Amino acid sequence: MSKYVDAVLADVKAKNPNEPEFIQAVDEVLTTLDPVLKANPQYEKNAILERMVEPERVVMFRVPWVDDKGIVRVNRGYRIQMNSAIGPYKGGLRFDPTVNLGVLKFLAFEQVFKNSLTTLPMGGGKGGSDFNPKVSPHTPGKRCSDAEVMRFCQSFMTELFRHIGPDTDVPAGDMNVGGREIGYLFGQYKRLANEWTGVLTGKGLSFGGSLIRPEATGYGDVYFAENMLAMRGETFEGKRCVISGSGNVASYAAEKLMQLGAKVLTLSDRSGAILCEGGITEKMLKDIMVLKNVKRGELADFAKKTKAVKFFAGKNSWQLTDKIDAAFPCARQNELDGKDAEYLLKHGCTLVGEGANMPSTPEAIAAFVKAKIMYSPGKASNAGGVATSGLEMSQNSERLSWTREEVDSKLKGIMKSIHDNAWEAAAKYGDKGNYVMGANIAGFVKVADAMVAQGVC
Ligand code: NAP
Repeated sequence: MSKYVDAVLADVKAKNPNEPEFIQAVDEVLTTLDPVLKANPQYEKNAILERMVEPERVVMFRVPWVDDKGIVRVNRGYRIQMNSAIGPYKGGLRFDPTVNLGVLKFLAFEQVFKNSLTTLPMGGGKGGSDFNPKVSPHTPGKRCSDAEVMRFCQSFMTELFRHIGPDTDVPAGDMNVGGREIGYLFGQYKRLANEWTGVLTGKGLSFGGSLIRPEATGYGDVYFAENMLAMRGETFEGKRCVISGSGNVASYAAEKLMQLGAKVLTLSDRSGAILCEGGITEKMLKDIMVLKNVKRGELADFAKKTKAVKFFAGKNSWQLTDKIDAAFPCARQNELDGKDAEYLLKHGCTLVGEGANMPSTPEAIAAFVKAKIMYSPGKASNAGGVATSGLEMSQNSERLSWTREEVDSKLKGIMKSIHDNAWEAAAKYGDKGNYVMGANIAGFVKVADAMVAQGVC
């Protein structure tokens, strides 16, 4: 590693000692950039790395709201505006008790490179709250009611609205922020700003949302993997795939894999994982989507009613079956560790397509890279979601709605160009087939060049 990278990393560690996820994300990117930094001394001269690891702005605020029992609750809200060199800040909102400054800074940092990879003009940001819509604050075993979620979203937006705008910062959904939450957030923004603009993406179809946006991250993850397979002359037909999660990204990755002839063997959630050796069917997946998104239930409930699946309480999807061709981590950060990677490699896995952000630990990444399997980091393979958000912004600006086929074909094209750019950057800098290095370099160069051109700011 170069002295320059060493020094920046040491500084990041010293300045952010309580932010392990942020340090992990910065480490993962910076340690792959040596060749491009060496070939372009202007980056060090302009302190590009030092500036990239410091958010342009962090907003942190109180979110008071009243629950159904009339009790006042207080959560913490955040927006990290990380980098706007190539476009307005863009990135999701996450509502989860694990949300803190370090987690959101890691997500915002990743988002900068991801958005750059999409080839669309979007900077990077991320936000959210430690609010947990899945646990009622007053009734054990229940979730927050729709009315409580609405009051929380309205209070959250009452502060956030002054920091965002269609040309400033355009948030979207993330974990626990789906169509329902985006609807409430958009409604409140519209009231406060007294204008109808495309300030949030992931909106409902009747108010400016884009077709395919809900599917885009999961579909895009699989399209990226199809491109990796195509480089080796393979397809998904008959491949045995394990997936973690059963939320937005996981369920649409499963749907697309089935459409392409693969067998989806597992899904998971906080209650545990399900395994279906014969392959989860389209009907089962449909039922799971209704269970998770409408009834807001758990896979444990599904397993009780479905004989064809086995349930593993508290387990993840990686070590449940003997023959695995491909794995898709689609739930959360650091959910696949060194031991899981070892198991996957030993049981035949030659492709890992990350749908979640930073789901593999550094040990797992090192094992995949060493084994030279087809391994795509989340910042490249889950970029389909934000890319389609970019397409939603374009449709809103033009006051147009594209058809499902149009959006899907643009998404496919974007995933192919992300794949090809990552492939070419890795080859150009001496490590052909290393998508981690390729994605980091391809994402970095565009932002770094824009920052150099814009002067010290
Ligand atoms: P989601 O719909 O909320 O689904 C998250 C899934 O992960 C759920 O199945 C959830 O289980 C599971 N999960 C969360 N925490 C867990 C834990 N501690 N243990 C076990 N399971 C856990 O979220 P999503 O939108 O699919 O996002 C998933 C990942 O993809 C995140 O890393 C997100 O940042 C990333 N991502 C999302 C998008 C997007 O467009 N949505 C785009 C790019 C990247 P429960 O249902 O039991 O909570």
